[in-house]
Amino acid sequence: MNKEYYGKLIYELSRKGRKGADIPANGCEESLSAIPSSLLRSNDAVLPEVDEPTVVRHYTNMSNNNFGVDTGFYPLGSCTMKYNPKINEEAAAHPTMASMHPATPASAAQGALEAYWTLQKALCEIGGMAAFTLNPFAGAHGELTGLMVIRAYHESRGDEKRTKVIVPDSAHGTNPASAAVAGLKVVEVKSLADGTVDVDALAALLDDTVAGVMMTNPNTAGLFESNVARIADMVHKAGGLMYYDGANLNPMLGVARPGDMGFDVMHINLHKTFSTPHGGGGPGSGPVGVREGLEKFLPNPKVVKLSDSSFDIVTRSDALGSISATLGNFGVQLRALSYILSLGKDGLMEAGKLATLNANYIKESLRDLYKLPIDKICKHEFVFDGLADKSTGVTTLNVAKRLLDYGFHAPTIYFPLLFHESLMIEPTETESKETLDNFIETMRKIAREAAETPEIVKEAPLTTPVRRPDDTAAALNPVVKWRDLTKSDAE
Ligand SMILES: *Cc1c(COP(=O)(O)O)cnc(C)c1O
Repeated sequence: MNKEYYGKLIYELSRKGRKGADIPANGCEESLSAIPSSLLRSNDAVLPEVDEPTVVRHYTNMSNNNFGVDTGFYPLGSCTMKYNPKINEEAAAHPTMASMHPATPASAAQGALEAYWTLQKALCEIGGMAAFTLNPFAGAHGELTGLMVIRAYHESRGDEKRTKVIVPDSAHGTNPASAAVAGLKVVEVKSLADGTVDVDALAALLDDTVAGVMMTNPNTAGLFESNVARIADMVHKAGGLMYYDGANLNPMLGVARPGDMGFDVMHINLHKTFSTPHGGGGPGSGPVGVREGLEKFLPNPKVVKLSDSSFDIVTRSDALGSISATLGNFGVQLRALSYILSLGKDGLMEAGKLATLNANYIKESLRDLYKLPIDKICKHEFVFDGLADKSTGVTTLNVAKRLLDYGFHAPTIYFPLLFHESLMIEPTETESKETLDNFIETMRKIAREAAETPEIVKEAPLTTPVRRPDDTAAALNPVVKWRDLTKSDAE
């Protein structure tokens, strides 16, 4: 990295009078008088003054500071940072798809509607559901939509007192948040020491105010909830519905279907399981599936098939309304469809099994040096409770920071909240044995360093542009715009 640009803001590279483009006079000066002076700037905007090579180098150098699945191993648990095949990008970038206007009439968008309909059908098959909407823009948005379906179902039966949603304590934070946004009351159910839902504690919460139970299976600790059929039975007997958080459907692909486990409503994160690049807040897509009998509540607009090769966009009065202005995040849908079609049924089944194998391989290769709180076969991910040897004072945060020095993205840390030193690893199916072995060797090396030279691990990262920002100060006092620190704010 060139030090001239390293760690600098574009404003700091600015030199008075320097420019990279000639902009023709716009001829608007005269019309300025038509704008009230109270709305006009009194001073020129402070913009960086830079030449073209500086702009290009600044942004290119900055992009090189990014870490992504295309640069290295990214074992961030619960996020499924799998490699995203480039053929998906080609499909999404195809001009006939990428340049389509969202308001194109159905008659001129038959191919796009067929893509929507085909993906929706594939997800029905994968999830064991009767119908899917692809309209929600993220996992959390899918949860909100699914909970609105559950509420609409109870209301349609005049069962208005069902406002309670039961959520396990190990659930992703979006679960209770979505339930609250949907106007439902959240009640937490504890997990057992082995990380699975406490069925007796759940039974005690079931009554005629239960709207539904949200479950993640495999759960956040990467464990399959083997009591799920019994739980579904109990919840249905109590009049509630079962909601499946399928953000990380990876290990279930072609092996087990939420619909067959007794779930009534589910969402899938296309940007995790179905290989769309994600992170930093987008782009996402959280399709919602429902079992037979609940289809009518799915949001408008809906895509319907009229004949073999003819599709339409419809708005129905018995739907729960709209949750998006359009038919969702089309680019992400195309990537998912491309991924599903290129892997095919056998390929999808292989992906889930490999993700499971890879997670167990790492877990078994490190369990002598890292504390394994739940000794079970995991699915696509698992959780360590920090280093096995706690006497060195080296924490999970230190291990995660040290991994950055060795060129790896850190695993998810301090989540789930079930353990004090959670270190949650999800390798995904797309990594080679060499990459997994390299990661394992590095984790073993860090454990050795923790014993021999703990101060190095505690001070890590030593090689990154930014070392240890003060997370608390950054959250309490965020500085999100450039400020010339040599001047006071009053100037
Ligand atoms: C990522 C995730 C979500 C939320 O998905 P977003 O697209 O980030 O809103 C929900 N549940 C689980 C289990 C997840 O891993």
